[in-house]
Amino acid sequence: MGSQEVSTVDWQGKHVTVAGLGVSGIPAARALHERGALVTVVNDGDDERARAQAAELEALGITVRLGDGATLPPSTELVVTAPGWQPDKPLFLAAAEAGVPVWGDVELAWRLRGDNGKKAAPWLAVTGTNGKTTTVRMLASILEAAGLRTAAVGNIGVSLLDAVLGDTEYDVLAVELSSYQLHWAPSLRAHSAAVLNLAPDHLDWHGSMEAYAADKGRVYEGNTVACVYNVADPATEDLVREADVEEGCRAIGFTLGAPGPSQLGVVDGILVDRAFVTNRQKQAQELAEVTDVNPPAPHNIANALAAAALARAFGVEPAAVRDGLRAFRPDAHRIEHVADIGEVAYVDDSKATNTHATEASLAAYDSIVWIAGGLAKGATFDELVTGATKRLRGVVLMGADRALIHEALTRHAPEVPVVDLERTDTGAMSEAVARAAELARPGDTVLLAPACASMDMFTNYNKRGEAFADAVRARADESA
Ligand code: ADP
Repeated sequence: MGSQEVSTVDWQGKHVTVAGLGVSGIPAARALHERGALVTVVNDGDDERARAQAAELEALGITVRLGDGATLPPSTELVVTAPGWQPDKPLFLAAAEAGVPVWGDVELAWRLRGDNGKKAAPWLAVTGTNGKTTTVRMLASILEAAGLRTAAVGNIGVSLLDAVLGDTEYDVLAVELSSYQLHWAPSLRAHSAAVLNLAPDHLDWHGSMEAYAADKGRVYEGNTVACVYNVADPATEDLVREADVEEGCRAIGFTLGAPGPSQLGVVDGILVDRAFVTNRQKQAQELAEVTDVNPPAPHNIANALAAAALARAFGVEPAAVRDGLRAFRPDAHRIEHVADIGEVAYVDDSKATNTHATEASLAAYDSIVWIAGGLAKGATFDELVTGATKRLRGVVLMGADRALIHEALTRHAPEVPVVDLERTDTGAMSEAVARAAELARPGDTVLLAPACASMDMFTNYNKRGEAFADAVRARADESA
C-alpha cells in the first residue's frame, strides 16, 4: 500500500479496550463506539471525576472499568492507549502476550483520517527534544501564508482526532509529535518530517537513550518527500539513515552555517535554500532575512529553517516562507521579551524546563544575569554551566534543587556572583528579580531560563513565567 493511502478498518463488533479516561481516551472511546466497535474503557483512577466521566460514557453504551487499568479484558482485539501510559505496564505486557496490537492517539487519528468522507490531508510532522511547538506554529504560519488550509495540531493542545474527524477540511496539517506518541504510532507515514534535536529527556519512560531516539526516529518511517535533520546534531541524521522511506524521499539538512547541497542554512544574515532548487550544486534560493525570525536567537533560527524545509518540501513558494515567518508570534514564556528597565532587558523563558533548552537560551545573549532553579528531574548542570561561564554576569538561584546548580557554578565558575534564595513563598520571584536587577549592568539581559521544572514552587511553567513578568512590570512602573 502506498504510504499516503487511507487504510480502512471494519469497526463493527470489534472489541476495543481504551486505556485511560482522559483528554485522548474519551474522544477515542466515543469515536470508536460511533463506528460500531464494542468499547471498554479501563482506568487506574476511581475518583469522583472519573466516575462522572464514566457515567457519561456508560449512558452511550460504552463499558467503563474504574480502578483497574492493569488487566486486559479477555476478548480484546485492539488496545487504544493514552500516550503517557508507560510501555512496561501489565496491560501492555498482557496485550503483547496475546498478540493484540496497541495504538496510541496518533495512530488512531492516522487510521481514522478520511473515513468520514473528508479529504485525508497529508501530515508534516515535527518532533525533537526542544523547539517542537515553536516550529510547528512557524510551519502553520508559513502554510497559511501560502494560502493553504491548515492547522497546528498534535501535542500542542489541539487533538489530532478532533482535527481529523472535525468538519473543517484541510489541505495539510502541521503536526507536533512527542516521543510517547511516536512510540505508539506504528503505521504513521508522514509526507515529510523533522527531528529538531536529540538530548536526554524522559528516559525513565523510554528506558534508555537508544529507546528514546528510536521512538523519535519513527517519525521518518515512510516519509515520501523529505526527512529533515539538524546538521549540528548528527544523531538526527543517523535516524534518517536508519529509516525506511518511500523511494525518492530525500534527506534535507538545516544548519546555522552556509548550506551544502540539499541543505537550508544561513548566508550573510539571509535564510537560504539549497535543497528545493533546480540546480542545488550551483544555486541557492533566498527565503527570508534572519531578522524576519521572531525572536532571532540562534536556536529559533534553526527552528525557522526546519519549518521552512518542511514547507518547501510541500511545495510552498519562498515568499510565503518569508511572510509566514514575519507573521509568526511566539507562544508565551518562550524567550519572551517583557521589558527594558534602565538599559537592561528582561526576558522570560520559563518554558526552558531542561538543560538543553536553557543552553540554547543562554547562547542567545552576550551578558546575562541568569535566574534558574526548581526541580532538576535528575539532570546535572556541569556542562550547561561550563558552556555559559563567559556570558554570566551573575546568577540568582531559587527552588528545591538550586544547590545542584550552585555546586556546578562553584566548580566551574567560582568568580561568578551567585545569590541563593531560600524563600519559596509567593514573594520569592519578586525578590529574585530585585536581586538580579542589582547584579545587572547596562546592556545586560536578565534571563529567566530555569533549566528545571516549576512544580516545587508554581502550578506550572506558565505561572512561573507570569510571576516573573509581573515582578518585572512592577519594577518598570516604579522606575517610569
Ligand atoms: P517543545 O514543544 O519541544 O517543548 P517549545 O517550542 O515549546 O518546544 O520550546 C521550549 C523551550 O525550548 C523554549 O523555551 C526554548 O528555551 C527552548 N528551545 C526552543 N527551540 C529550541 C531548539 N531548537 N534547541 C534548543 N532549545 C530550544
